[in-house]
Amino acid sequence: MPGEVKIDGLGVSPGVATGPIVSIVLTPPPIGELADPQQATRDAVVAAETELNELSAKLKAQGREEGAEVMSAQALMASDPMLLDGIIEQLDGGASPDEAITTASSGLQAMLRGLDDPYLAQRADDIGEVAERVRRILAGVESADLSHFEEPVILVADSLTAAETAQLDPETVLGFATETGGPTSHVVIIARSLGVPAVVGAAGLMAASEGKSSVALDGATGDLFMDPTDETVAEFVARAEHHEATMAAAQEFRGSAVTYDGRPMSIAANVASGADLDKGVDERGDGVGLLRTEFLYMERPDAPDEQEQYAFYSRAAEAFAKPVTIRTFDIGGDKPAECVTVDPEENPFLGVRGARLYAPHRELFDTQIRACLRAAANGPLQVMMPMVSTVEEIIEFRGWIDDIAAQLDADGIVHGTPDIGVMIEVPSLALTADAVMKHVDFVSIGSNDLTQYTLAADRTNGALGHLQDPLHPSVLALCKLTATAARAAGVSSSVCGLSAADPLGAAAFAVMGMDKLSVSARSINVLKATIAGLDPSKGEAALAEALAAPDADSARAALSAWVHGS
Ligand code: PEP
Ligand code: MG
Repeated sequence: MPGEVKIDGLGVSPGVATGPIVSIVLTPPPIGELADPQQATRDAVVAAETELNELSAKLKAQGREEGAEVMSAQALMASDPMLLDGIIEQLDGGASPDEAITTASSGLQAMLRGLDDPYLAQRADDIGEVAERVRRILAGVESADLSHFEEPVILVADSLTAAETAQLDPETVLGFATETGGPTSHVVIIARSLGVPAVVGAAGLMAASEGKSSVALDGATGDLFMDPTDETVAEFVARAEHHEATMAAAQEFRGSAVTYDGRPMSIAANVASGADLDKGVDERGDGVGLLRTEFLYMERPDAPDEQEQYAFYSRAAEAFAKPVTIRTFDIGGDKPAECVTVDPEENPFLGVRGARLYAPHRELFDTQIRACLRAAANGPLQVMMPMVSTVEEIIEFRGWIDDIAAQLDADGIVHGTPDIGVMIEVPSLALTADAVMKHVDFVSIGSNDLTQYTLAADRTNGALGHLQDPLHPSVLALCKLTATAARAAGVSSSVCGLSAADPLGAAAFAVMGMDKLSVSARSINVLKATIAGLDPSKGEAALAEALAAPDADSARAALSAWVHGS
């Protein structure tokens, strides 16, 4: 289609960018007809090994040692005949190339996992990734190295995984847009932490980007213009300037304490990497409201040992005078881990994830809890459980932590006594909030998952974007229940999902009486400016109207009339 084309998506990581398009299909189509499937597979396995070695060398040259190691470990696996022989055997038995890869790879993975050796279990996941690479090569789809582009670009893709997003270099990726994906996925969280403007769930994006050379992208509104006209580019330059000016003005609030209606509100940092931690310190966040420890095992085959975790948690605890909340590894759903193998499940988001993995992977979590307890001797550390459904799980968790503390005492190892809290991510927990408060020192609302579970809409499914608004009155009602129960019990409450950084969400949470909001470091001072600018005299009425609203748009309109006067 010649000329400018507008596509609407969901703006999920604020910022405005215009620039050349790089359009990439990352989900391979089914493998087509192959003249000699056996030979093609042999060639594809060699090509996969070459790709992995090249990628490893590239990442190494960029100083990304951990990623480089994973890639070279996978290259080694591609060179091992195990996978190739398995695929050929299936092909010889009459399977199609797609079936052969799936069967051979899952058989090998099951075999490795069955050996009950954690090292080999991790290799099982690597085998899976190598197999998918072979599948992509056979499907004739180019490999995407997202870690480097020759010039600054805007990436347009059908979909991106969290691991692929983590490869992006903000120096050369000015922004990205995907056809699929929801507003609360991990892709979004990583994009915000990198400060890369992003739009997801843009239906028709790939078709519209065909033959286009540039794009204008607004990561706040979700506007995308392919081959924008000069007028559109000028408008986007103005939008970018406005965004920059807002960010600059917010710097005035750096290091300041904010209150709502005379009540102090902490604005803490969400941390998902060492760089995030440094940024949180730099922006003078009020502690860390959510330390997503998953990054410690991402892009590496092994979970870090106790000493490495202890060192990182101690660094975090020492960096702030205010609490640093360590969330135990939240594995599963859209956060897979090489170090934990989860049996394939029909509904991973409703499956064995988060705290539900404590029992089957006790050793992994014992190590993490020991590291947390020891690091708590060095600063104001808290420990938080993700994905909790029942009060019993909390009681069990506390008993287990007590056992580990007793063991450390018995071994004469110094440790602290961190506050213990839970994430409110499952409606059942919000609905039993009064009972929950008896067993916790703090609660933190994970509004991303709470929205997913309340509206029964998979957070990674872009087709359900319209159902994923954390300001839907049903989600707001659960937040209010939680805040009210927490205040009555004298338990500290916070919100650490993405809605905490939405000015309308933040305003609603302030009225509810939340003590803390935790957001990506870049949003800390903008949020302080937002809270400081609220007029508390109209807050209760606005929240009441939002809670009584029939839908998310009306709830937003009620809050916006108060916060923005429109
Ligand atoms: C949430 O669910 O809102 C949350 C903060 O946790 P995560 O996004 O890491 O699942
Ligand atoms: Mg969550």
